[in-house]
Amino acid sequence: MDDRLFRNAMGKFATGVTVITTEADDVVHGMTANAFMSVSLDPKLVVISISHKARMLEKITTSKRFVVNILSDEQKDLSMHFAGQVREDLIVNFETINNMPTIKDSLANIVCNVKTSYIEGDHTLFIGEVTDLVINDGEPLTYFEGKYGKVVNG
Ligand code: FAD
Ligand code: NAD
Repeated sequence: MDDRLFRNAMGKFATGVTVITTEADDVVHGMTANAFMSVSLDPKLVVISISHKARMLEKITTSKRFVVNILSDEQKDLSMHFAGQVREDLIVNFETINNMPTIKDSLANIVCNVKTSYIEGDHTLFIGEVTDLVINDGEPLTYFEGKYGKVVNG
């Protein structure tokens, strides 16, 4: 099957946008991700999917912890930055929750310990057990057909 056809089909699934953060060997690392899902309420589990080409894979493998920062519609620049479209003038404000770096003013910061990891194809799925949560008001940044957007009510 053609890669472009697969991506176009997956792009029809509208998602929010997150930046995954972690700290390994005293270095903070962030990466934009939309492959995120709530998995279980008891215990409280989430899943993320990290490409084998991403530097984040080695970082989380080392730290065994990660944070899912759900972005607001005012954080598109951060999403672009952490997807590799570097904005030199951008100031990234990290805050610390339970010794983990988080992105300030996100709609939610979900701090996790890695419970299990599964290699599937060219990605690794990390199941995270949630240890800490912070929630803020705001509207979500969205991603659909490879483009950013906002939720339109009504
Ligand atoms: P790099 O490419 O080195 O880092 C990412 C960027 O973050 C760089 O610009 C770097 O300068 C900056 N950065 C990192 N740490 C810091 C720091 N401490 N301070 C300031 N800047 C920093 N890939 C997946 O594997 N899974 C997904 O679910 C996924 N979803 C995506 C969703 C969207 C909407 C987009 C646009 C991309 C998505 N990607 C996903 C692709 C992924 O975001 C990019 O391939 C990314 O560049 C991979 O990051 P990396 O870990 O290799 O690190
Ligand atoms: P796109 O139009 O190719 O992606 C549309 C959708 O396809 C994405 O939302 C995602 O669901 C899926 N997808 C894209 N690349 C994938 C990959 N390598 N593995 C698994 N699923 C993938 O591209 P875009 O939306 O313009 O994305 C910009 C860049 O970010 C591309 O390099 C893309 O590969 C990468 N990206 C990777 C993932 C991922 O690894 N899960 C997700 C989104 C975007």
